[in-house]
Amino acid sequence: MHVVDAITNAREPLLSLEITPPPKGTSIDELYRTMDALMPFKPAFINVTYHQPQVVYEEKNNVIYRVPKRKKPGTVGICASIANRYSVETVPHFICGGFSKFETEDALIDLHYLGITNILALRGDPAAGNTQFIPERDGHRYASELVNQISRMNRGIYMEELEDAHPTNFCIGVAGYPEKHFESPNAEKDIQHLKHKVEQGAHYIITQMFFDFQYYKDFVERAREAGISVPIIPGVKPLSNLDQLASIPRNFHVTIPHHIVEAMEQARTSEEIRKAGIRKIADLCQKLIDYKVPGLHIYTMGRGTATRDLLKILYG
Ligand code: FAD
Repeated sequence: MHVVDAITNAREPLLSLEITPPPKGTSIDELYRTMDALMPFKPAFINVTYHQPQVVYEEKNNVIYRVPKRKKPGTVGICASIANRYSVETVPHFICGGFSKFETEDALIDLHYLGITNILALRGDPAAGNTQFIPERDGHRYASELVNQISRMNRGIYMEELEDAHPTNFCIGVAGYPEKHFESPNAEKDIQHLKHKVEQGAHYIITQMFFDFQYYKDFVERAREAGISVPIIPGVKPLSNLDQLASIPRNFHVTIPHHIVEAMEQARTSEEIRKAGIRKIADLCQKLIDYKVPGLHIYTMGRGTATRDLLKILYG
């Protein structure tokens, strides 16, 4: 089922989980163990992130070789295997980085053949080791261009002219940033670019993680004023240790409010810190549920124990 249809049919905010493929060379069993613990909460869909390879240069016999190293491959395989094992809708993340438009088309055809009909379309982070996003030759620079390509395929328009081409049937999600995207000069410009993604055919928005209900509320209001009417699903990340108070703002360009930092820093043991962090995020989720959000998208990184504890508080 398409994510937007599931939202329309649901009486309560839909639960979705975002997972990351395991590092190359490790077994998928750990991921299954994580999913086994989370599936009783009946997520409506599972997002699987996509990671661009880091390109390194290695010297062998006086020759320099360009070696792309992907630490976490397997996005599409994991989507297919989870959909099959748990009978749940999966949403592969699909990025501009590392793909020409021709490779993008082929990858979309693979998804179409696999029966995967939901996609989260993203530009992607700069490749590891780069400070700036560099598009591939013949690749897309912005997520809006990728959305445009997927929408065209949904109308049966491929890169080459094909007679009576079969249209794909993708429901397209895109990313939104309550605290604005870090490269954007201001929030207004960022909303204009978000609106452009929707005009190109995006059906819904999932937000970057945020830790203050007011950021989400203001963002939704700004989006609605700009004429964006698609569902905006809030993205939430459970906090469970003090290291995250520095690493999350650094990596995701978001702010953690003082009352959360204080509650976690005042706790004395690691178990108390964990409980304080998860309790604060549960409070945030409850405010979002009361605000009648279309869904709750939980960033489940790693083993998923913090997500499980958060969901236990919310859903028992
Ligand atoms: P875009 O929408 O293209 O925006 C990128 C920047 O360009 C913004 O500052 C925007 O304002 C600006 N911009 C857009 N259009 C224009 C224009 N026409 N002219 C000038 N400026 C413009 N990254 C991954 O690598 N893999 C993942 O799996 C992944 N999953 C994510 C899931 C979610 C829910 C979110 C919120 C983010 C995810 N990311 C992921 C991170 C994302 O790829 C980065 O935040 C990236 O830097 C921007 O992606 P985007 O799709 O928002 O880009």
